Amino acid sequence: MSPANSRLCIRNIGHLVTMDAVESIFKNAWIEIADGRITAIGCGEPPEPATTDCEIIDAHQGIVLPGLVNTHHHFYQNLARAYTPATNLALLPWLTCITPLFKNLMPEDLFIASKVAMAELMLTGCTTTADHHYLFPSARAGFIDAQFEAAKDMGMRFHAGRGSMDTASEIIPDWATESVDEIMNDCQRLRDRYHDPASGSMRQLFLAPSALTCASPTLFSETARMASTFDLGLHTHCGETLEEDQYALDHLGCRQLPFLADCGWETERVWLAHGIHFDDGEIAHLGKHKMGIAHCPCSNMRLGSGICRVNDLQNAGAKVGLGVDGSASNDSGHMLNEVRQALLLTRVKHGAGAMSVGEALQMATTEGAACLGRSDDLGSLEVGKCADVGIYPADDIFSSGAENPVEALILCFPRQVDTLIINGRIRVREGRIPGLDLDKLLASHRTAAKRIQT
Ligand SMILES: [Zn+2]
Repeated sequence: MSPANSRLCIRNIGHLVTMDAVESIFKNAWIEIADGRITAIGCGEPPEPATTDCEIIDAHQGIVLPGLVNTHHHFYQNLARAYTPATNLALLPWLTCITPLFKNLMPEDLFIASKVAMAELMLTGCTTTADHHYLFPSARAGFIDAQFEAAKDMGMRFHAGRGSMDTASEIIPDWATESVDEIMNDCQRLRDRYHDPASGSMRQLFLAPSALTCASPTLFSETARMASTFDLGLHTHCGETLEEDQYALDHLGCRQLPFLADCGWETERVWLAHGIHFDDGEIAHLGKHKMGIAHCPCSNMRLGSGICRVNDLQNAGAKVGLGVDGSASNDSGHMLNEVRQALLLTRVKHGAGAMSVGEALQMATTEGAACLGRSDDLGSLEVGKCADVGIYPADDIFSSGAENPVEALILCFPRQVDTLIINGRIRVREGRIPGLDLDKLLASHRTAAKRIQT
């Protein structure tokens, strides 16, 4: 791996997709990187490096994108990927089916699952990921700590969601819940120990009750209060199924958004996973308060949950990022594939002219960064921004015959990166993760998955 203070110069870029304010795409371009930041971008012949410690990366006329941003995931679920008894179920029976598998989940299982999930994301061009971990069997400690450790090992930019459930039900067993005090104490501990709010941060904490079907009004309110005190992100599942709306009406006497508003969840720091079943007034409300949605097209299709009204949300002023969602309902963490599916599904909902390749990429870059509160330093390739860069091949079989390689990157079969740079360091080189014994990792992952599923 390259040293922390190394300089990089990426040359021979066929198409540099900046995702800047005017979505500039430069041909025959180059990028210079120093100390984790982009220091120069240009076209044509690159300048000679000013120092000898600059590593030259030949992009071989490939396509360069900003590192993709994943706004919703459940890493632990890759231990029950494509779990046969649950493959044809809708959300609530699916959740009832898979949750008991994880009664004996240990922090070391989550450490392995997190490394696998991050490796998968990185190979597909993702440089920043959120994870929403809400399962703490028997209030066991150390899960989120294990995730931060995994992210450090992988060199990935990580936003950990301290998830929570305090309300048991037919779906959520007692052993999966914690008390509000236990939850809030751990949130405080994690914030004090790990949260780095600085520009260029590699690790942040956000607070994330799982859903209003398994978290009390007190938990939602306390969480919002702490998030406001420490300026943390707020996240939960909302609007994924019509059953959730019915639950809210039956148990809370109102729809989900008014409930959240009463609990202090009506702020820009909030982004909601899925956001499918909102009416016109609710969409206007989300836009007015500049709230975010983590749109998860593959998971929504897999569970038959419905189609997010992406265009309506965007037109109203809401931020819409992309999430792969958990690996037991996607069942893939291929971030570039999620971009493609988002484009296709939005066209199913709103028509063929509803979303361009550029607009789909916005969701996976600038909009995703905005959901995580990282617009200032992530999401686009511009001088001064973090050096999070993916280089994709432009001349393989999957896009052969395409005249526009950038459009082909999204419209054709989703590929992996040749090279991935996170915070100015090379984390994927020639399609492999340097320093990672992938065979060994996958062997321990298979062992853990087998134990979980039996
Ligand atoms: Zn989810």
